[in-house]
Amino acid sequence: MKDQTSNSWEQRDMHNVFHGFTDLDTLNRNGPVVLTHGEGIHVFDVHGKSYMDANSGLWNNVAGFNHRGIIEALCDQARRFPGYHAFFGRIADTTVALSEKLIEISPFPSGKVYYTNSGSEANDTVVKMLWMLHRRNGQPQRRKIISRVNAYHGVTVATASMTGKAYNAEFGLPLPGFLHADCPHFWRFGRAGETEIEFSQRLARNLEELIIKEGPDTIAGMFAEPVQGAGGVIPPSEGYFEAIRPILRKYGIPLIADEVITGFGRTGAMWGSDKYNVQPDAIVASKCITAGYFPMGAVLLGPDLCAALTAVSEKAEEFPHGFTAGGNPLGSAVALKALEVLETEGLLENVNRLSGRFMSGLRQLGEHKYAGEARGVGFMGAVELVADKATKVALDGSYQISERIANKALEKGLICRPLGQAIVLGPPFVMTEVEMDRMFAILADTMTEVFAEVGL
Ligand SMILES: *Cc1c(COP(=O)(O)O)cnc(C)c1O
Repeated sequence: MKDQTSNSWEQRDMHNVFHGFTDLDTLNRNGPVVLTHGEGIHVFDVHGKSYMDANSGLWNNVAGFNHRGIIEALCDQARRFPGYHAFFGRIADTTVALSEKLIEISPFPSGKVYYTNSGSEANDTVVKMLWMLHRRNGQPQRRKIISRVNAYHGVTVATASMTGKAYNAEFGLPLPGFLHADCPHFWRFGRAGETEIEFSQRLARNLEELIIKEGPDTIAGMFAEPVQGAGGVIPPSEGYFEAIRPILRKYGIPLIADEVITGFGRTGAMWGSDKYNVQPDAIVASKCITAGYFPMGAVLLGPDLCAALTAVSEKAEEFPHGFTAGGNPLGSAVALKALEVLETEGLLENVNRLSGRFMSGLRQLGEHKYAGEARGVGFMGAVELVADKATKVALDGSYQISERIANKALEKGLICRPLGQAIVLGPPFVMTEVEMDRMFAILADTMTEVFAEVGL
């Protein structure tokens, strides 16, 4: 018989759980962190140790880990109607109510919502929508998808192909036909003497060249995060979206805003598209749509794309695509409540009230000898570490500097995220001033200790 219960939670995890996106060297050395519950912005492990989660889980637990109202909304829905699908024209009333709400708060004058269980599925769904749309409209060759270097759009085969990260080579991805345009990171990629606006215009020219080289009538659409998240928190360079938008219009290429992180207030605006004048044809949402309490993804179709897609689906009799659990009423009840909380309990105001303090905390860390850039917007930010501030040359990989800092911070009871050579912070929207100051104080101490330890 398998003896599985006499061991510690950590051992039981090590024996039975296959972790993804986990540094296995660190896992094998330090073991997993097994959690039991949360209070406010803190989570507790099986030994009772508490951690301030400066990443809101994975960007999504924006209202803290024990919000009474959201939990009640979930329980109420569970008692009334805990599950149904959205196939064959059937749907739960709560999901209809959520759709109305999402379109109301969207940047679109009208539109419709399609439901999935994750951000990856939502992006993947849009790829299929675009492929079907162009095929039915007599352009079956319009299949190529443009995203950008350092983009993160998910992990399905198509969305991993869109994700502009080197690790996808492990899977032999990207698939052919998935193209990566420039990353709009001025600090990293700007040339000597070039202004930020000129940089944005150069990237737009490069994009047009790419489109022409590939053949404009072979491009199905372009996906872009208003602020690149998993790429290391990279707000767009000044004038970037204004520069690329007319080019995409000129060649009839739809622009999809992947707002899985930036949707619902992370940048201080309801949408990153509002903040950066993206003017998308569709928006992909997930993560904080349910404040992290239920899996849900959504595609918000703007009026033009919605009308076009409806027309071709009518010709085909249907849009032949769907996820069994998409539009589940539990998720819809949670999302409705989470959006209400965002608007009526001062979460959005808190992000705007404290984003100045957040940015100045980041900038203070950015004064460290080995900090190259402190960047961010709203409640998302990063400090990028370098060997030399002037040349921006990266620290030797053998220092594993960001992993060390994150591991040391964890010991001190702070969860932050290493991304490449950057430390990323994405605090819950309910974080207080006192908590914010504590977060930066722990991180400053941690950096001092770690740099001393590695002898820098
Ligand atoms: C997290 C993320 C996704 C993928 O969402 P999952 O729910 O993990 O599939 C897609 N796009 C962006 C911008 C994300 O941050």
